[in-house]
Amino acid sequence: MKKTINFSAGPAILPHDVLKQAQSELLNWHQTGCSVMELSHRGKDFEQCALEATQDLRELLNIPENYHILFLQGGARSQFAGVPLNILSNHTSADYIISGYWSKCAADEAEKYCQVNRINVKTVHEEKIGIKSFNQWQLTSDSAYVHYCPNETIEGLAIFDDPQFNDRIIVADFSSCILSKPIDVTRYGIIYAGAQKNIGPSGVTIVIVREDLLGKAKRELPSVLDYTIQTKHDSMFNTPPTFAWYMSGLVFKWLKQLGGLTIMEQRNRSKAQMLYQYIDQSDFYSNNIATENRSIMNVPFVCAHEEFDTMFVAEAAQHGIIGVKGHRIVGGIRASIYNAMDLDGVQCLIEFMKEFERVKG
Ligand code: PMP
Repeated sequence: MKKTINFSAGPAILPHDVLKQAQSELLNWHQTGCSVMELSHRGKDFEQCALEATQDLRELLNIPENYHILFLQGGARSQFAGVPLNILSNHTSADYIISGYWSKCAADEAEKYCQVNRINVKTVHEEKIGIKSFNQWQLTSDSAYVHYCPNETIEGLAIFDDPQFNDRIIVADFSSCILSKPIDVTRYGIIYAGAQKNIGPSGVTIVIVREDLLGKAKRELPSVLDYTIQTKHDSMFNTPPTFAWYMSGLVFKWLKQLGGLTIMEQRNRSKAQMLYQYIDQSDFYSNNIATENRSIMNVPFVCAHEEFDTMFVAEAAQHGIIGVKGHRIVGGIRASIYNAMDLDGVQCLIEFMKEFERVKG
């Protein structure tokens, strides 16, 4: 029996059904008499498992055939370097949209390899933080690509629409919002995401790369990060994180069974709406993000007085509600409500918030 409700930002909650299935086949996977993590990645059972996971992800996100799907290692941060080294080619600069902590980290890393044009798209209106509309993003014309982060995990700041910059190569860090809703993959050159929020356990990093962007890598790029080499080897140039890949595959099947990403988006919007509505009607809790840019995955908030934030986190844990401490750079409280969190879980959190407010407010 699970005793806690886990709102951690990542590694994060996984679907209960997926964990049960993994448990049931842990010691004897596919009648092999072994666990999946003890078997060669070159064996036919694992190859089939890897292929199915890749196909299921393609189906879920409606990824066209001219995009390759890679299951790599190194986390999303490895792609902060992997992206420029793979696709800068002869260019000397890239545009980085700065909307929060993670997009800034990506820009800082890219700066080792090229000139980075930092484009600040944040707005502040009546103390609420928002994002400028796409037509106000002042891109430069001759940079290699435009990088942005559609969901800033720490700030809970999201850009929901797919970008529309016809001839530009768009690269997006989808770490904390991949599979939370349908997207139009054709608008992007590269999509990447660490798995440990909406996909599976940590250890696997998904890269979805358009065919025409292969073959441009810098010579000094480590081979394991080279999209062309990894594509040629079906992500098995080096030994892949087999258990994390298998688990991701189970999550993809779970998503398909639930009806795919349109259903998931409805579910995610309902959960987020419920939580934001509760925060907005309360004089005790507040969230500082403009309504249209509020993340449906990460919901940060603070109590009326700072000292209550720490108490909230501690008392929540006593009620079996864990992972709600805000990121160390911003403090406060944050509830991450990824795909695997259900409506009941959010309802429990709200009940706890009500009670905490009643006592402390
Ligand atoms: N980008 C975003 C949006 C993230 O939320 C995170 C992790 N929280 C990262 C990048 C870094 O991911 P990793 O630890 O897998 O390198």
